[in-house]
Amino acid sequence: MKVKAINGFKDILPDEVTRWQYIENLSRDIFHRFGFKEIRLPIMEETGLFARSIGQATDIVEKEMYTFVDKGITLRPEATASLLRAFIEHGIHVQQPVNRLYTIGPMFRHERPQKGRYRQFHQISAEVIGAVEPQVDAEVMAMGQLLLMEMGLEASLEVNSLGCLECRPPYREKIVNFLENLSEQLCSDCQRRTHTNPLRVLDCKNPRCRELVQDAPSILDSLCSGCSEHFTQVQASLDLLGVQYSVNKFMVRGLDYYTRTTFEFIAHNLGAQSAVGAGGRYDGLIEDLGGPKLPGIGFAMGIERLVLLMLERSDDDLGLQQKTDVFVAALGEEAASHSALLVHTLRKSGIKAAMDYSGRSLKAQMKQAGRLNSRYTLIIGENELEQNTAVLRNMENQNQQNFTLEDGPASWGNSLKLIIENSVSA
Ligand code: AMP
Repeated sequence: MKVKAINGFKDILPDEVTRWQYIENLSRDIFHRFGFKEIRLPIMEETGLFARSIGQATDIVEKEMYTFVDKGITLRPEATASLLRAFIEHGIHVQQPVNRLYTIGPMFRHERPQKGRYRQFHQISAEVIGAVEPQVDAEVMAMGQLLLMEMGLEASLEVNSLGCLECRPPYREKIVNFLENLSEQLCSDCQRRTHTNPLRVLDCKNPRCRELVQDAPSILDSLCSGCSEHFTQVQASLDLLGVQYSVNKFMVRGLDYYTRTTFEFIAHNLGAQSAVGAGGRYDGLIEDLGGPKLPGIGFAMGIERLVLLMLERSDDDLGLQQKTDVFVAALGEEAASHSALLVHTLRKSGIKAAMDYSGRSLKAQMKQAGRLNSRYTLIIGENELEQNTAVLRNMENQNQQNFTLEDGPASWGNSLKLIIENSVSA
């Protein structure tokens, strides 16, 4: 029987993992610069948490969740709901009024798999809880943009405001009226959404629907004075920070909990799945989930899509070439057992060392050293062993020098480290 990974679930092989590590490390670095702390969360929650937060009539809750119906639990389709559940459960706000948290991990949605869209995918999510100021919205977007820039990726930022509980319901009514007049012409999904989730019709991907909604009333014309002022200030703050963006009045996002600012980072060479990251403000959500009355804003980026965008950059360019410092090539049994101690000693002193135990020829071992991208090979044969020396070959320029084994294991690591460090700086 040949067992394969299930559709939409993907192995991340070692050569690709280096890119994942690069993205994760850079994200952590940037988040720490902005004062964020990491939180780690379980991948399952009670189903009700997602239905209550993401919204009963959203695609995610209606048809994409992996739910154990008999147990009432669901694999998380996104991180914000879980993060807020943990935030409330542990009373994190009691310590300080504003909390900046991030988390990295797998999410699960039963979507149709295609390039850039998987059923298990990974998100880097960042959330600021407790701050209502528009400057924070700008700061969060600026952080997302910096992340993409430092990865050397190009993506544009699109921003919108979805209003609040005061101004959205009247806008919703306007949209429903507008859509009812088009009813027959919309795709079947949008005909259904006209009453279940009318705002979603505005960002339907169907070209015919797109054309039809061009003249739809804009949420931006319906914002209450508070939301309008907030959005103006968000834009002024983005300008102040020198963040490039454009306003997209049709961006509505697929989750119900958003209020006011919403945004997406769009990459233009990702094909259909062009959003590389997205987020927004969710001012009523924490209270809805039984927590304190605190506002929040955050975003998530998909690691798979970041990796796809990074394909244009080589491992060398990203500094990801995995190198071995020293490959120890032993000739003969005695040399081999001596080498095992040598390799272990080198590793203990922080040197990336490798050897081969199968007693192969020098030529085969040199080939192996090449495959491992080894910078040096230390050759120990019978003669060398008798004289307590080894031959150290620089694999880049083929220069050779004698390396003394006389002083015993304690000194090997240090002397080799010196040689390697000197050769790097030379
Ligand atoms: P969302 O949680 O839907 O706002 O998505 C935020 C980001 O997560 C997107 O911009 C993508 O980068 C990523 N993402 C969402 N769904 C998927 C998926 N099915 N496969 C891969 N990445 C995804």
